[in-house]
Amino acid sequence: MAVTAEGYVLEAAKAPLVRRTIQIPDPGPKEVIVEVIACGLCHTDLGFADGSVPTKKGIPLVLGHEAIGRVVAAGKNFESLSGTTVLVPAVLPCGECAFCKAGRGNACPNQKMPGNDIDGGFSTHFLVPGGPLVKIDSGSPSEVAKLSVVADAVSTAYQAVLRSGLAAGEIAIVVGAGGVGGFVIQIASALGARVIACDIAADRLKLLANYGAEETIDLSVKDFKEVRKIVQAFAKGVPSLNHKIFECSGTQAGQLTAYGLLNRATTMLQVGYTPNKVELRLSNLMAFDATIHGTWGCPPEVYPGVLKLIDEGKVQLDPFIAYGPMSKLNDYLSDMAAHKLERRMVLDPRT
Ligand SMILES: [Zn+2]
Ligand SMILES: [Zn+2]
Repeated sequence: MAVTAEGYVLEAAKAPLVRRTIQIPDPGPKEVIVEVIACGLCHTDLGFADGSVPTKKGIPLVLGHEAIGRVVAAGKNFESLSGTTVLVPAVLPCGECAFCKAGRGNACPNQKMPGNDIDGGFSTHFLVPGGPLVKIDSGSPSEVAKLSVVADAVSTAYQAVLRSGLAAGEIAIVVGAGGVGGFVIQIASALGARVIACDIAADRLKLLANYGAEETIDLSVKDFKEVRKIVQAFAKGVPSLNHKIFECSGTQAGQLTAYGLLNRATTMLQVGYTPNKVELRLSNLMAFDATIHGTWGCPPEVYPGVLKLIDEGKVQLDPFIAYGPMSKLNDYLSDMAAHKLERRMVLDPRT
């Protein structure tokens, strides 16, 4: 069944997204068409829209990579998904290559990202591969809509925490308490770690103090030596072997802070993105026998773990999201560029 969709298309960098009618072809055997219930707005969308990050597919392209929806047409391999509610991960691995088979699907070289490699979820409908979709037990519409942010912000945070091997009783040092960092804080705390959060935004730190951050450091008023002292005092009694540092700011300053906090056998996760370079003494890794992991997206097979934390109320979404109509998408992008969005926007394509 072919479908006519209404989607918001990036046609030129630095220009508003344009609402267009799009003919979606019949799904191939391994594809499905998802009717979008909600799609989250991510900072990466702003990067694509303002031209600072090129999309892999080029333009024109429907943006949006945090979608949840209902399968309204399914190719023959995925007929079982027909009518189900599914989360569409921001990283869609092929499921068949050596990376996928090794449980490293988020590094799959054949992966597709909606709103980057293929048309995305800022649309009433979109066509996606069926294999990586995560089935959701449908609850009330607002409960389902809010789970859209799991497709990127929350699952990326969860995968970073899993990748670090963080265990209960360990110390999680989170640099950057924004969209992803805020969820790293909640997830690390939910898993029983003690969390210290560092950011330049005092109000953000105040909020996260209610959602898992036992200690906070305002990087806008502390120099690095003070930061290190506070972290050491906080972590007293827990050897640096059991410290996990999460760089979530995606800034040069944040990367330098995180790297500077490395100590003996400490593990650091690079979660944030910046195109800018930093100068580091890499030999500290050698001297400390320390580890740095990169982390990107989240393989679909681990989503049930983070959905369970949300279901159990151990990770809260409501204080961090707001709802809006997709017809105001360009306004929200402008607000985001002006740093006026305090919450992650969850957009309804039907309004
Ligand atoms: Zn994103
Ligand atoms: Zn693969």
